[in-house]
Parts: sequence; C-alpha cells; structure tokens
Amino acid sequence: MEDNGGGEVAWRFGAANPSLEAASALSIRALVHRLYGCVDRNDPRPLAPLGHGDPSPFACFRAAAAAEEAVAAAATSGKYNSYPTAAGLTEACSAVAAYLSRYLPYELSTGDIVLTAGCNHAIEIMMAVLAMPGANVLLPRPGYPMYEARAALGGLEFRHYNLLPDKGWEVDIEGVEALADENTVAIVMVNPNNPCGSVYSYEHLTKIAETARKLGIMVICDEIYEHCTFGSKPFVPMGVFGEIAPVVTLGGISKRWMVPGWRLGWIAMTDPKGILRKKKILESIIIYRGISVDPAAIIQGAIPQIIANTDDVFFTNAMNTMREAAEICYQRLKCMECITCPHKPEGSMFVMVELDISYFNGIDDDIDFCTKLAKEECVVICPGSGLGMKNWLRVTFAVDPPLLEDGMERLKSFCLRHAKPTRNHATS
Ligand SMILES: *Cc1c(COP(=O)(O)O)cnc(C)c1O
Repeated sequence: MEDNGGGEVAWRFGAANPSLEAASALSIRALVHRLYGCVDRNDPRPLAPLGHGDPSPFACFRAAAAAEEAVAAAATSGKYNSYPTAAGLTEACSAVAAYLSRYLPYELSTGDIVLTAGCNHAIEIMMAVLAMPGANVLLPRPGYPMYEARAALGGLEFRHYNLLPDKGWEVDIEGVEALADENTVAIVMVNPNNPCGSVYSYEHLTKIAETARKLGIMVICDEIYEHCTFGSKPFVPMGVFGEIAPVVTLGGISKRWMVPGWRLGWIAMTDPKGILRKKKILESIIIYRGISVDPAAIIQGAIPQIIANTDDVFFTNAMNTMREAAEICYQRLKCMECITCPHKPEGSMFVMVELDISYFNGIDDDIDFCTKLAKEECVVICPGSGLGMKNWLRVTFAVDPPLLEDGMERLKSFCLRHAKPTRNHATS
C-alpha cells in the first residue's frame, strides 16, 4: 500500500454491503435498541422493558433449577469439550425427537432433528436453504422480522399475507392463495403468535395445511412459543398435520424454558411422508449447518437432562404468572381511549394494539410515539412499523407484574399528557 505523502494510508476496505444494509433496515432488534438508547439514564424510575420478549431477568421467571444444574453438570463432566457433529450430538437430537414426539401422532427419529444456536439460527438456515433463484416465500404481516431480514440477506423474495385482527389474528387463507404463484415454495407461520398473542385452533391449522397442499408448498411453523398458552385454546403442533403437507418445525428452549441466552434451538422435519427428505431439503439443511455455527456442545450435552428434569410445576407456575401479566396488560390497555386491542392475548408474550394517532397533539406516528415514551417515561414499547403495521404497537407482558403495572400507569399518563386539548376536556 502506498503512502499518500501525508503519512496516511488509503485503506481499500469499507462496510457498505448493500444486502446487509437492506437486511438491517428490517431488523427489529436495531429499532428497539435505538429506543432503549433514548431512555434517560438519570430517571430514577425503573426501566419498563416492554419492547422485547425476554422474561429471564425477572425472579418470577427464573429458569428451573434442574435446567441450570443440567448445564453445570454437562460443563464439569469433561465430555463436551470437543466439536459436536454437524446435525448435533446424537443423544441431544434423540432427546429432542422424543420430546416433540410426545405431542405428535407419529414418532420422530434422531435424523429428523437438526440442532441450531437458537431459533433465529433455524430461521437463518431455512431462509438460506429455500433461496433457489426466482423462489419466493410467504410471510405473515404482522410478523417476526428476522424472516424478512434473513430472506433479504440471502436474496430470497418474500411476500406478505395478512393476519386478520377481527378474526383473532387468523391467517387470511384467501389472501395466501391469491399471493402464491408457481415460484412460491413455503409459507411461514408462527404459533403461538408473536406479535399477536394468538393461538391457532385445530380447525384453522388444518385449513393452513390444506392450503399448503393445494399450492404444493411446505409449511414452516415457528413454534418457539410451543405450550406457552394461557387462554382457552390448547397448543396444537403443526406437525400433527404433516400427513397433509410437509411441515418444518422451528423451535428451541429460549421461550418455554425461559433461557434465551443459552442459544439452543432446532429444526424438526415433522413430515411423516418423507417429502422433505425426498426433495433433499434435509440434506441441504445439514450442508448449511455444516458451514454455519454450532450450538455450544455443553448445551447440547445438557439438553437430555434439561428436558427430562424440568418439572411440570415450573411450566405451570411460569404460565400462571404469564396469564396474570397478560390480564394486567390487556385490562390496562383496554381502558386507554387512544388504544384499540382487537384480541385478548392467549399465548406467547405479546399483544398487538392499534394506536389512534389523531388523539394526540404533536405525535407523528408510532415510532415518534415510542421514542417520546422512552425519553419521557422510561418505558420501551416496540412500534408496529417494525413489524409491518404502522401506527400499531407490540407490547410484551413478559415482565414482573408489579413493574408491568407501573409501566402501564406511565403509558397512560403519557397518553393523557399528549392528548389534544379538546380530547383532554372530554375525558376529564
Ligand atoms: C424469540 C423468537 C425467536 C428467536 O428465538 P431464539 O431461540 O432466541 O433465537 C424466533 N421466532 C420468534 C417468533 C420469536 O419470538
């Protein structure tokens, strides 16, 4: 490299990868991060983190002791210091297969499971595997933007179908059929749903599977919130309908076990007819996994014991607290004049609500609303724009109930303070 005289080197590199920039524009993490950055650090009130779903810092959602002990035992056993195999350690895959099979009408085998470094990694792999030239995938709106970001990064076209707020956020089946063409390869769905807090019924899941069959596409079902339900509907795994259409189930321990920092997820071929295998999808997943990262061997080593030793009491207690939190959140939001909540949350850790921007004085949109709320009230909420729904909000209730109450109170006073004077008159 030549010196340009002044002693400065003309470095040739830069960081302007356009696909990375396009993908990062879709990242909700960046958006929510910015909002956390707006919080006034001198505000004596505790930060109410209603912007992202991670209950693990709160004592009431602390992971099961048995799960923590399983990790400690794996770490000190000396057995998990080597590189694991490409799909994951056999005993770990086998434990996950047996665990998922409990809820299916057929048995999964060890070879149906690929372990990943969290469910986000599973999303990364699937979006890469499906990125055949010209192919497109159908993604839900509102959705979980990691799908869009990973598809954009890999050059896979995505199209949005709607979730219908007036129908309990069910999939707009007719919309899906209208959207698909001969290049559509998959439909992605999330159940229980982030961001809507909805849980799909057996009948609705059947319809989705039948639609996929009609279109000749696979179903990718994000079940990271499996069994995280606290309403009247039970969780039904999409794999139950694997006879109708091939289902790739994405999951992990982040949400149900409340340990997102442990980074263990999976891809399961819930495909009793073996269509994914025949189409070499499994092969492709293993190839991608082999050139990608491994989940830490210690966590893989611990997973059989994490699954076997976590008592049902842990899940029951966690869901009881989540139900209480969801109730607080829903009741508080329902009473705010500027907010409409079309559907009471019955699963996951979130609820989607619509904001009436015309109610406010000097607030432009949902992003402006969330920015000012973070600055003035130390409350972070995720703007709907980040999920494809402008002037909506996604609120998580996966926080300690007293802090949630406090956060809701601050949200309410923020709304009243910024209401148009005429409005204020009407409500006081
Ligand atoms: C949290 C979440 C994930 C990511 O899970 P990790 O295991 O933490 O990577 C994936 N999908 C949805 C819908 C989520 O809400």
